[in-house]
Amino acid sequence: TPEEQAVRMEVRECMEKEVAPIMTKVFPLFSVFVECANIFVYWEKAEFPFEVIPKLGALHIAGGTIKGYGCPGFSITGSAVAAAEVARVDASCSTFILVHSSLAMLTIGLCGSEMQKQKYLPSLAELKTIACWGLTEPDNGSDASGLGTTAQKVEGGWILDGQKRWIGNSTFADILVIFARNTSTNQINGFIVKKDAPGLQATKIENKIGLRIVQNGDILLKKVFVPDEDRLPGVNSFQDTNKVLAVSRVMVAWQPIGITMGVYDMCHRYLKERKQFGAPLAAFQINQQRLVQMLSNIQAMLLVGWRLCKLYESGKMTPGHASLGKSWITLRARETVALGRELLGGNGILVDFHVAKAFCDLEPIYTYEGTYDINTLVTGREVTGLASFKPAP
Ligand code: FAD
Repeated sequence: TPEEQAVRMEVRECMEKEVAPIMTKVFPLFSVFVECANIFVYWEKAEFPFEVIPKLGALHIAGGTIKGYGCPGFSITGSAVAAAEVARVDASCSTFILVHSSLAMLTIGLCGSEMQKQKYLPSLAELKTIACWGLTEPDNGSDASGLGTTAQKVEGGWILDGQKRWIGNSTFADILVIFARNTSTNQINGFIVKKDAPGLQATKIENKIGLRIVQNGDILLKKVFVPDEDRLPGVNSFQDTNKVLAVSRVMVAWQPIGITMGVYDMCHRYLKERKQFGAPLAAFQINQQRLVQMLSNIQAMLLVGWRLCKLYESGKMTPGHASLGKSWITLRARETVALGRELLGGNGILVDFHVAKAFCDLEPIYTYEGTYDINTLVTGREVTGLASFKPAP
């Protein structure tokens, strides 16, 4: 719609003009590629660029589809194209905002009490406070429903004990949405934990080769007290977590679309600029074939992403649809970025030329919000009626 196009162009302009220069520094070499090459300063140092938070906050995209409470109330398509435009410039930035918005804020929006929505969502929407979303544990990744963190009811609240792993934004988040097993009912419950809660500790995971800007953490919860008012009343089983994941998987599916669009743009420019055998690389048939293959993949990914949004908007989207879309799109994106990496020759392995960085950034996206395999099994269960997550006894 014209509104969705306007969101897209506004995010694109801000990302290109305001965010991209913060992330990169022009490569200081005398080269014909001076236009293409950049040093991705924060990515190299694996540091989070806190200076982009006010810029992303001013865009007013956090909270996506949530209506009211200072959130934008976009259509899911509007929210998805915004996510893609952020990812087109930087995948880590888009993961930062998706964890905050499509996981943590959405959980509060879908499963929080009226008081919790009023208390937390407005400042989260402005990015004045930052959130993370903790489901995965060291011993429970794909098997998230078997999580071991416990929540024990005590007078006036709950005591949380356990560990979380890989949690994006957790090293600096003001609030942490944490899932734990209720020791009385044995069901999964959700809690809002404040960053200064005694017994809470988040440690940065070092040495990642992808999404290096995203600060993923190991969380330790040692007898952390959470008052009753911060238990999310709408999370009463793992199925409630899945409701959030089905929507956020649509958003995550649009990240690889944005990443591959950015890679395509870079390859297109590069092929026109660099010459071999007296002609631009773009003049060679094999390179054109690769470029066209990338373009066709992107068009197909866009159509699948768009179809997911339309199914969601008509109330017909099932968890299987979301899983199929996320897994198929990330697989195609992996293939597309690999083609781009080939087009750049040696420069295809340098972070400076964007494509190698995108290549690495896609790997965790292929894995998080359900690996390719797990999303395939979710779809498989839906089309056959048979769950095959556990090996036969
Ligand atoms: P495992 O579950 O150990 O899987 C290993 C391999 O076995 C995979 O190939 C998997 O597909 C396969 N496998 C497992 N079970 C089956 C099965 N039944 N059948 C067939 N194959 C199977 N989590 C959060 O809660 N919050 C976050 O913010 C967050 N951010 C993340 C950011 C990054 C960069 C990464 C890497 C992860 C993040 N995660 C987050 C965790 C992510 O969701 C998990 O890594 C993911 O679910 C996979 O779990 P695992 O890594 O433990 O792999």
